[in-house]
Amino acid sequence: MKIFNPADNIQDLQYFGEFGGVNPSISDSSTYTFLSAKTMFDTFEGNAEGCYLYSRHSSPSNLYLSQALAAMEGTEAANVAASGMGAITTTLLQLCKAGDHIVSSRTIYGGTYAFMKNFLPNLGITTSFIDSTKHELIKAAITPNTKVLYCETVSNPLLEVTDIAALAKIAKKHNLKLVVDNTFSPLSVAPAKLGADVVIHSLTKYINGSSDTVGGVTCSTREFIDATKNVNNGAAMLLGPTMDSLRAASVMKNLRTLHIRMKQHSANALYLAERFERDGLITVYPGLASHPSHELYKNMINPEYGFGGMMTIDVGSLDKANELMELMQHRNLGYLAVSLGFYKTLFSAPGTSTSSEIPLDEQKAMGLTDGLIRFSIGLDNDIERTYQMMKACMTELGIFKEVMSEF
Ligand SMILES: *Cc1c(COP(=O)(O)O)cnc(C)c1O
Repeated sequence: MKIFNPADNIQDLQYFGEFGGVNPSISDSSTYTFLSAKTMFDTFEGNAEGCYLYSRHSSPSNLYLSQALAAMEGTEAANVAASGMGAITTTLLQLCKAGDHIVSSRTIYGGTYAFMKNFLPNLGITTSFIDSTKHELIKAAITPNTKVLYCETVSNPLLEVTDIAALAKIAKKHNLKLVVDNTFSPLSVAPAKLGADVVIHSLTKYINGSSDTVGGVTCSTREFIDATKNVNNGAAMLLGPTMDSLRAASVMKNLRTLHIRMKQHSANALYLAERFERDGLITVYPGLASHPSHELYKNMINPEYGFGGMMTIDVGSLDKANELMELMQHRNLGYLAVSLGFYKTLFSAPGTSTSSEIPLDEQKAMGLTDGLIRFSIGLDNDIERTYQMMKACMTELGIFKEVMSEF
C-alpha cells in the first residue's frame, strides 16, 4: 500500500522553464492570445483544457502552485488566492447564500471570526460559534439552514485540536460541507484524508515561510474549484482575490523546502515546550502528554513532521508578558510580531493582538488569559542555547517565582 506522504507528492511534480530552466517560467501576462476565435469561445465556456484566457481566471504560475498544493493536501484541485482571508471569504461565499447558516468552531483566527460575526450577517448569513471539541453541542447547533461546518485543525491561539474525522461524520450525516483551515499544520495533517470537503491555508505562514508576502489557497474537488472559477457565478472569479503570478512563482520555490522547515519547527517547539513545562510554566503544546488532545492529535498527524511549531505559555499577567517579549526581542531571541511560520521565532500576546476582534468576555469564556504568550518557534540551529537564553530572561523578570507561587 502506498502511504500518503504530502512531501513526496510535491517532490514528484516537475515544472521546467521555457528554455529548460530548472524553475518554471513566470507568466508575466494578464491576457492571452488565441489562434482561433472558436477556441476563445470554448475557453469562456470552460471547455478548452490547457488554454488561458485572463489571469484573474487562471495563469500558468498560479496553476503550478495550485497543483502542488492540491498534491500536498491530497485533493483533486486547488486555487490560490492573494491572501488567506481571500481564500476563506470566497469559499464561504461560494457555499452560502442569504438565509444560510454556518456552525463554526469558536476558537478560530480573528479575521475569520470577524468575517462571520460582523460581515456575513449583512448578506443574511448567520453563524453559531461552538466549542469544536464538544460534538454534542455542534450537533445541537445544526439547523435545517446550516450549510457549512467550519474549524481549524489546530486552533489559533489556544491550540485546541479538532477531531476532523468525527466532524466529517457529523457533516456527512447532515449534508454539510466541512471546511478546515489547516494553516497551523501543513504536511503534519491532511484534513481531506480525514473527510474534510474543503481545506484552506493561509500561505502567508508556514507554506511560504519567509514573512515576505500574504497568500492563500482553497483545496477541494475539481467540481468545487471549477465552480469558484466560473465566469458567470464563481466567487473567486467575480470577487477577484487573485494572486499575482510573480508571487505564485516565489511561493512555489519556498514550498519546495517546507518539509525540512516543518521538521525543524516541530523539533524546536517540542524541545522548548518540554523544558518550560518542567520548569513549572503553564505550557500548551499538542506534543505534550498534558495537552487535552495529545492522544487524538498523535493519531491524526504524520509523525515525520511532528506536532508543529506553535506553543503558548502563561506568565501570569499582561504586564509580565509584555516585559518578557520586549526583553526576548532585545536579546535577539525573536520578534514581537503577529503571524507565524517565519525562520525567526515570533511572539505576541493574542488577547491584545491577533484575537482582539473577539470581545473580552468571550476571550475569558474560551480560556484566553491575559498572561498568554503565543510563540511561533523558529528554525534556530541550537535550540538548547535558545532555551538557556529564554530561561535567563524569565529568571531575570521573576517569572518562575511568580508562576510557582501560584501553586
Ligand atoms: C493568518 C491566518 C489566516 C489569514 O490569512 P492571511 O494570509 O493573513 O489573509 C487565516 N487562518 C489562520 C489560521 C491564520 O493564521
